Amino acid sequence: MSGTVELGRYSIGVGDRFAHQARAQLQACIDASWAGVDLEPVWNKSNREHIIIGSEPSQTRAAADAAVKALGWGQPYFCDADHINLNTVDRFLVPCDFYTIDVADFIGKPARPAAVAGFLKRRADLAGAIGFEGSGEAIKITSARLRATAEKFLFAVQEAGKVYRRIESAKGKGNFITEISMDETDAAQTPEELLIILAAIADEGIPIQTIAPKFTGRFNKGVDYVGDVAQFRREIGLDVAAIAWGVRELGLPQNLKLSIHSGSDKFSIYPAIHEATKGSGVHLKTAGTTWLEEVIGLAEAGGDGFALAKEIYAEAFAHRDELCGPYATVIDIDHAKLPAPAAVAAWSPAQFTAALRHNPHAPEYNPSFRQLLHVGFKIAAKMGSRYLNLLDANEAVIAKNVTENLFDRHIGPVFLGKPSPADALQDVEAR
Ligand SMILES: [Zn+2]
Repeated sequence: MSGTVELGRYSIGVGDRFAHQARAQLQACIDASWAGVDLEPVWNKSNREHIIIGSEPSQTRAAADAAVKALGWGQPYFCDADHINLNTVDRFLVPCDFYTIDVADFIGKPARPAAVAGFLKRRADLAGAIGFEGSGEAIKITSARLRATAEKFLFAVQEAGKVYRRIESAKGKGNFITEISMDETDAAQTPEELLIILAAIADEGIPIQTIAPKFTGRFNKGVDYVGDVAQFRREIGLDVAAIAWGVRELGLPQNLKLSIHSGSDKFSIYPAIHEATKGSGVHLKTAGTTWLEEVIGLAEAGGDGFALAKEIYAEAFAHRDELCGPYATVIDIDHAKLPAPAAVAAWSPAQFTAALRHNPHAPEYNPSFRQLLHVGFKIAAKMGSRYLNLLDANEAVIAKNVTENLFDRHIGPVFLGKPSPADALQDVEAR
């Protein structure tokens, strides 16, 4: 039996680096249900983040369970072992019920020639034109493209199968949600490639409910999308059609949908995401956003909280090269625009929050300042209880920022079709 545990049509991945904001995040989902959309929260945290923070997956589970109990949430919710592989999955087997199997490292590695030949024979009918019902769209896969895609991705899908079976043997079939992610790689996958990858996943017997391709354009951490919005719109439309085709023709789970990683703050493509996925559903992963709202809340609180927020920035500025290094491909900081810590020391809380908060039309908003703090969570992790105690002491003001940010700037435009903060910018410019 499969599909006992099923992800609903709309879900949101909420990262919570310090496991202090689960209630505030859940509140945003409660607000969503009042606004008319059933939205399932998924608390995601990668092995990498657990190592940086020094936390355990069981703490994420405990925080989620406590929030659900405190707020009386009666709908489904999940804990996601984000970006795991065969080496890292074990510590997540007990506390998680959602697994994002990351195959990016295996893309481009060769599968055995016999396996590639077997796939090409089995799936020979993929070559040619494939029409998507209802959309009027079609894609054309040449036999050269079919072979090249099999050679590039088949080994990665086989590796995903190994991880899936490890989880299945520990938890039992149908007792967890499986996602495959390919976003942390250099090249975007085209809809043609996605369709071929789905066929390989079906052959491997992995009942994925979400899949995270790498899309065209840049998904920098904590800031807006950088790329060709029209091209993204066309691509995501075809991806959704390819997934619907995969459900129909390949027997993949009925609720299979796209997962969008680094999904926070991508205001300029939210209308396209909403439009493309309102029927099929979507999983939007946000993570770093919540940590920045903690810093905003501390600044807004004034006093010791604001002093610590300024100290975190000063430390991040001093260590900017080592903090930015590992994130070089997903941040875009103009170092000339980073204010000197001595200048920031003289700022008011309002100046600090206006520079940090992602209001694209606010003249004080400083994306370089925001991105440096985004990758600066290691500084707060090193502060340990000094940081955590101030989170507790200023819980109300922080929670308000966490909930509002998720609901107003993310859930509204992606799931409810409300204007995105980027639209507000265009309105201002048009006037
Ligand atoms: Zn990802």
